[in-house]
Amino acid sequence: MPKARPRTLTPAEIIERLDALYGIPPWRPHGDAMTELVLTLLSQNTSDRNSGRAFARLLERYPTWDEVLAASTAEIQDAIAIGGLAPTKAPRLKALVAEVAARRRGFDLSNLEELPLDEAKAWLRELPGVGPKTAACVLLFALGRPALPVDTHVYRVARRLGLIPPKMPADQAHAALEAQLTPEQMYPFHIALIKHGRRLCDAQRPRCEACPLLEGCPEGQIRVAGRGAPLGDGAPA
Ligand code: SF4
Repeated sequence: MPKARPRTLTPAEIIERLDALYGIPPWRPHGDAMTELVLTLLSQNTSDRNSGRAFARLLERYPTWDEVLAASTAEIQDAIAIGGLAPTKAPRLKALVAEVAARRRGFDLSNLEELPLDEAKAWLRELPGVGPKTAACVLLFALGRPALPVDTHVYRVARRLGLIPPKMPADQAHAALEAQLTPEQMYPFHIALIKHGRRLCDAQRPRCEACPLLEGCPEGQIRVAGRGAPLGDGAPA
């Protein structure tokens, strides 16, 4: 008789078990919303280390957003070259800064604190280069609002745990996962799944035998039984 599918763990259980393993630091803002917006754009497809260096160089050369706005795309590209993908990111950054300046007559994004959450997300997503993950990063990390960024780690671990269907596209996973979390769980859940994806639930070789979530993980159960890797490497669709 086939083994019953394991019980899906609740978000509270997942957070508690991963907190015990890794420790989840309390929420602290990285900076204001404009800073977070630019940092997140620079971090797209780049390590945190490299995007942090690119951000530092950008601010070294252009200490204010007005100065970034006045710089040419070629100058911005030169400033952020250390972070990689500068030819792609420089025009995006230039367009983003210009659009914020035009819509806000400056760079104060405190409007996002007061808008209903869906409107704040929509406002951000109308900016060039801003998708659901970047919008959620700004709202969660800079403003402490209950939005869930779904990066490659969160997406992979959530699929393996059966919290979202295997074929659900990453951009739909934001709403599907947010609906399962309380506002207070957004930040610790995000941090817990990122840490887990980086340390134990690796894309290629998850260490399921050592995982505190194995009991409730359909993918892990299949892997430890030696029946393959049902979701492959878990890369975003
Ligand atoms: Fe990832 Fe394996 Fe843990 Fe499941 S049991 S969450 S696949 S490491």
